[in-house]
Amino acid sequence: MGNEDNRRRRSPCSCCLSVFKWIPVIFIFGVIAWSYYAYVVELCVLKTENRAAMIFMLIFYHIALVLFLWSYWQTINTPVGRVPAQWRIPDEEVNQLFRADNQETQKRILNNFARSLPVTNRTINGSVRFCEKCKIIKPDRSHHCSVCSCCVLKMDHHCPWVNNCVNFSNYKFFVLFLGYALVYCLYVAFTTIHDFIQFVQNENGLAVSEQGQPTGSGMGRFHILFLFFISIMFAISLVSLFGYHIYLVLVNRTTLEAFRAPIFNIGGPDKNGYNLGRYANFCEVFGDRWQLWFIPVFTSKGDGLYFTTSSDQFGSGTGQRYDAMGNTTSAAAAASSRQRSII
Ligand SMILES: [Zn+2]
Ligand SMILES: [Zn+2]
Repeated sequence: MGNEDNRRRRSPCSCCLSVFKWIPVIFIFGVIAWSYYAYVVELCVLKTENRAAMIFMLIFYHIALVLFLWSYWQTINTPVGRVPAQWRIPDEEVNQLFRADNQETQKRILNNFARSLPVTNRTINGSVRFCEKCKIIKPDRSHHCSVCSCCVLKMDHHCPWVNNCVNFSNYKFFVLFLGYALVYCLYVAFTTIHDFIQFVQNENGLAVSEQGQPTGSGMGRFHILFLFFISIMFAISLVSLFGYHIYLVLVNRTTLEAFRAPIFNIGGPDKNGYNLGRYANFCEVFGDRWQLWFIPVFTSKGDGLYFTTSSDQFGSGTGQRYDAMGNTTSAAAAASSRQRSII
């Protein structure tokens, strides 16, 4: 009911803004649709004379395209990981918090409320993290997104190219999307480079067949050459972004944590606070089943609320945590029980 009321109350201005936010996504789909026409119709059907080569090119092109579109779709359409209701602070305590005249009182109220929650992250003054807009205790690694207007679990960044927050629920899809987009661009560039070289070598700018006859229409050649340039351009920008996110996966760090280290209740700020070793870090995002690693289905471990820290893993921490019901359990037992739970 609440959501329905909110939808009814949306002003024309906010509707325009939500349409505006889809422009980068529409642009990307437009480029993909044009590249499909240029590659399949102009290059494969109208220009490639060898039937076997054409079938081979089309099969690999469609495999790359399906994986690319599937992971892109999943990144766009997976709802952001939201904070469950038990993390919300009751109105009475929120009022106390806002009336508190000093930081120590606020800190005491927050720490008291969060004593039953599995939080290890703290603010710079040692208090449990609290979102004034959502009126919730922030789970570890979560942040408030001003575009989504809510706190988002394991927030990485808000990406306009997918019109969604990259976060716990779609991070695997996002990394796969970057990877498959790069594969798609490199494949298209690799299979059109021959035409590009022919074009450059030919004094008249005319592509010629093996018999020396000009092939393809003028517009057809334009589509194929433009396809080569666009795919190289996107590949160059994707390779650095994809490489950076592979690095972040392997050190178990979000983009936000790369800029500002999370602060722990024990040990203070630590950029490597969640680094469990490269293989364990990779499995935290991609799951334990290697058969599903490169398929855009959700296989990330955990519930987005609790994350094993390097001190849990390597034994320098206390090894004890509070579970969601306020009982003290070992870190390993808490981690396994939370993995079974679904938000
Ligand atoms: Zn918030
Ligand atoms: Zn967002």
